[in-house]
Amino acid sequence: MNEFQFIFDFIAPGVRARSDVLLGIGDDGALLAPPPGETLIVVADTLVVDRHFPATLPAADIGYRAAATNLSDIAAMGGEPRWATLALTLPEMDAAWAAQFLHGLFTALDEAGVALVGGDTTRGPLTITVQIIGSVPPGQALTRRGARPGDRVYVSGTLGDAAAALRLLAAAPADAASQWLIQRFCRPTARLALGRALRGLASACVDVSDGLLADLGHIATQSGCGMRLDASRLPLSDPLRRACAPAEHLLLAASGGDDYELAFTVPAARSAELDAALALGDAEVTCIGQVVVGEGVVLVDDSGFPITLAATGYRHF
Ligand code: ADP
Ligand code: MG
Repeated sequence: MNEFQFIFDFIAPGVRARSDVLLGIGDDGALLAPPPGETLIVVADTLVVDRHFPATLPAADIGYRAAATNLSDIAAMGGEPRWATLALTLPEMDAAWAAQFLHGLFTALDEAGVALVGGDTTRGPLTITVQIIGSVPPGQALTRRGARPGDRVYVSGTLGDAAAALRLLAAAPADAASQWLIQRFCRPTARLALGRALRGLASACVDVSDGLLADLGHIATQSGCGMRLDASRLPLSDPLRRACAPAEHLLLAASGGDDYELAFTVPAARSAELDAALALGDAEVTCIGQVVVGEGVVLVDDSGFPITLAATGYRHF
């Protein structure tokens, strides 16, 4: 199978129709019709074999994850995802692997209503770059720069699950707790409904991809303030509590990446509005601390003393 058979026989038939795609896969470029007046949001994420995922990960999970990590960035901006491109570098053209990969990718894109509109296919070490284009009404996007001292800090879902899963993957344990954690790594849920519900309400928002402390650190830096987080309030899942030693819980939750939850700040005076907005959303949310004058993100124990961890988050360089 050459790349043209791959594109036209494998990829194109899986693409959903959208009325805002005037011309999709097959030409030199796609023609798209953005909603009049809306602001476009463009995100891209690359997954490299043996860096972001082990080569043995099921192809369908690699595909799902490649889409979900990008959808999470759109969620963190409060956007509605619309279109995707896929730049795919494959070591060889393995039809069975490719079919599984595309099945996972299209599952995630379909769940979000996104159409694949183009891409590129090349030979080399397995590398997947997905780009997603979404939109948001003018002035409504969530950014990293609006947090103010006194705001409350929240996070959705539970933390540390994907980092715990990475330790389990090699052993392939069969118990239910381990399986649930592995799914959290392989099939992350982009919090799209939550992101939209936070429009006009959150003062800043980020998705947790590198680790809670590292990602909230971006909000602190870009907003010019500090944060105090209560270690005992970080939300942990029951499977994580069961699968990992208590001494590891905090490090996993505070610095483990790949959970793709949303971490955000809301002015304290608007917490009732947040409760009302959350009633419509798809995610549990926990208040974990507050924005303070100063800089940096500090984790404190129940007596208010700072806790120093061995790591804060993943860095490539
Ligand atoms: P060009 O040579 O003009 O760059 P290609 O031959 O690479 O075009 O691609 C042909 C068409 O197939 C284009 O519309 C391109 O966007 C699409 N395409 C190529 N690879 C992919 C892919 N991995 N996923 C989705 N669309 C793809
Ligand atoms: Mg061309």
